[in-house]
Amino acid sequence: MRWRNLRRSRSSFGRWGVRERRSPEPGEFSVPADNDPWAAERSRMVDEQLIARGIDDPELVRAFRTVPRHAFVDSDDPYSDRALAIDAGQTISQPYVVAEMIRAAWPVAGWRGARVLEIGTGSGYSAAILAELGATVTTVERYPELAAAAVERLRTNGYSAVQVVVGDGTLGWPAGAPYDAILVTAAGPIIPPPLQRQLSPEGGNLIMPVGAREHQFLTVLERHGNTFSSQRGDPVVFVPLVGEHGFEG
Ligand code: SAH
Repeated sequence: MRWRNLRRSRSSFGRWGVRERRSPEPGEFSVPADNDPWAAERSRMVDEQLIARGIDDPELVRAFRTVPRHAFVDSDDPYSDRALAIDAGQTISQPYVVAEMIRAAWPVAGWRGARVLEIGTGSGYSAAILAELGATVTTVERYPELAAAAVERLRTNGYSAVQVVVGDGTLGWPAGAPYDAILVTAAGPIIPPPLQRQLSPEGGNLIMPVGAREHQFLTVLERHGNTFSSQRGDPVVFVPLVGEHGFEG
């Protein structure tokens, strides 16, 4: 495998550092008309945390407006601008970070019908967003109790097509390969080689926080044939990826 370091040549990545503040025009995005008591909070999250920071792809915005984040996390403030605690000492990522990861991993032909692997199911929220975008999602979680709770939440919220697997996600899930996109939502010291092998050679994108246990950089790997290009993005802090090609537990 040949490595090439493409520094800031991907335009979507180049925008990462930009925190442009732009208020949406009145009526620019419609508020969902339903009787969900959290609808206004969710709409505010999308306007203030995503659109105001330059995340305005209509499909992505629609997915974040649709998926009920409050159903995936036990919190008084489920739409707040931060990561929140879930069971087993794990966290659900800040909405903006979920959106950034999805944006950076955007498949060549879009999300609809894309084969996607997520490592780190956690609450199931990011898997639901990916499913809402039209992707065929397999997600791997190492804690059986988190996986079971996520299956239940995904099912009751209309995302039962998401396949949840219990196991060591550093080994990937070869049965579903190749993947158009792989999102690793836990931090590891390296990009696990099995995940690289399972990435589609036709422009597959993988995103993962890579670095030390305490702090990492979101890193994108793009595959064309057997050529892999990697690029480092924003500094982040994620819970550790624990497994054969991750950190020790
Ligand atoms: N995407 C999740 C957030 C995940 S937090 C959400 O939307 O809620 C990271 C998750 O990765 C945790 O649930 C943790 O248990 C899991 N994890 C850590 N190492 C793992 C591994 N080797 N395989 C699968 N899951 C792992």
